[in-house]
Amino acid sequence: MIHQFTTARARKSNKKLKMAVKELILHMNGGVGETSYASNSLLQRTVISMVKPILEESIVELCGALLPKCVNIADLGCSAGPNALLVVSEILDSIEAASQKSNHKLPSFQVFLNDLPANDFNTIFRSLPGFCKKLEEEKGSKFEPCFIAGVPGSFYGRLFHNNSLHFVHSSYALMWLSEAPKALGSKPELLNKGNICVAKTSPPEVFKAYNEQFNRDFSMFLKSRAEEVVPGGRMVLTTMASFRSDDPLTIWEFVGLKLNDMVLEGLIEEEKLDSFNLSYYAPTKEEVKKAIEEEGSFELQRLETFAMDWDMYIRKANSSLDKQARAAVMATGIRAVGEPILSNHFGEEIMDDLFKRFKDDVVDHMETYNCKYINLVISLTKKHP
Ligand code: SAH
Repeated sequence: MIHQFTTARARKSNKKLKMAVKELILHMNGGVGETSYASNSLLQRTVISMVKPILEESIVELCGALLPKCVNIADLGCSAGPNALLVVSEILDSIEAASQKSNHKLPSFQVFLNDLPANDFNTIFRSLPGFCKKLEEEKGSKFEPCFIAGVPGSFYGRLFHNNSLHFVHSSYALMWLSEAPKALGSKPELLNKGNICVAKTSPPEVFKAYNEQFNRDFSMFLKSRAEEVVPGGRMVLTTMASFRSDDPLTIWEFVGLKLNDMVLEGLIEEEKLDSFNLSYYAPTKEEVKKAIEEEGSFELQRLETFAMDWDMYIRKANSSLDKQARAAVMATGIRAVGEPILSNHFGEEIMDDLFKRFKDDVVDHMETYNCKYINLVISLTKKHP
């Protein structure tokens, strides 16, 4: 009896430990150095600026319907870099404009920045005094206080008090699943040979396993937010998506090809690659729509996709960069996101080689296969009971 009790407890704490380990592995490169996410998040910044009109539209409608004395805002998957505060500025500016237009007194703000516990929150916290000072200078004394707090935890569970949030934002975070599908690798037909995510050469069973994991996670996300967002509250979520889930054109597929080359050259063991699956899934518009309708708490206001070449954000920022220079920016951008999780499995020592190979071939690959980032913007309103 005692033995049974201990085993059950041990199993439970083991499960907890696994969860903690998983949540500590997924994070972007911290700090503000050359390889940090903070210095290499131009792609994500470009996407945020492209989504701005939809964010503004959502906020105008929110303020038209309800404008509390203190607006509670959450950015989910904020990471550690200038984008987190860029989003906060955009949201505050939009609320200011909307409340002035409707002759309402400016509300005060409570902003929650959420990410997984391993995120480098310190880098964000260090930039807060400068951010608040700038806000005060720009907005003057009429501006009500803005309180900013960090919330470590997974957005695939509860993070906030019931009925407490008015506006939820998330950009480029929801394609990260809570975990890679557990079944992968356990049966021969589920072996995602030579790939690290759903790719053109993945068997249909692998696609199905990822698709089911996405459905479980996204429903849990919606269910948790349904408890936390007030009726009439809004969410604007941007995620990487696919036109076809079994052919997602993802840049991680290309990282997988480079890892495969290294296996063929004997630099990585084949088993090491075969046993690795990224907790990443880029859903289609239809899959997202179905999950929202099935969960039922939110009304879909907009669901829009926009595609952009893998290097579009670099050409937009600096049209004079040649192919080599663009490839270098793409390589550091993907490294800032993927290095912690890839080096945890394959070892830090192969990272320079991997990302050199990535840099050498990425533009040719993109041009040959017409590779694009496909972005999906989801604008939602919490239904009234
Ligand atoms: N929104 C930022 C960061 C995008 S990077 C921007 O646009 O620049 C994606 C972030 O999502 C990472 O920091 C990652 O740690 C976070 N993330 C992934 N899964 C998460 C989860 N389950 N809960 C909270 N944050 C998560």
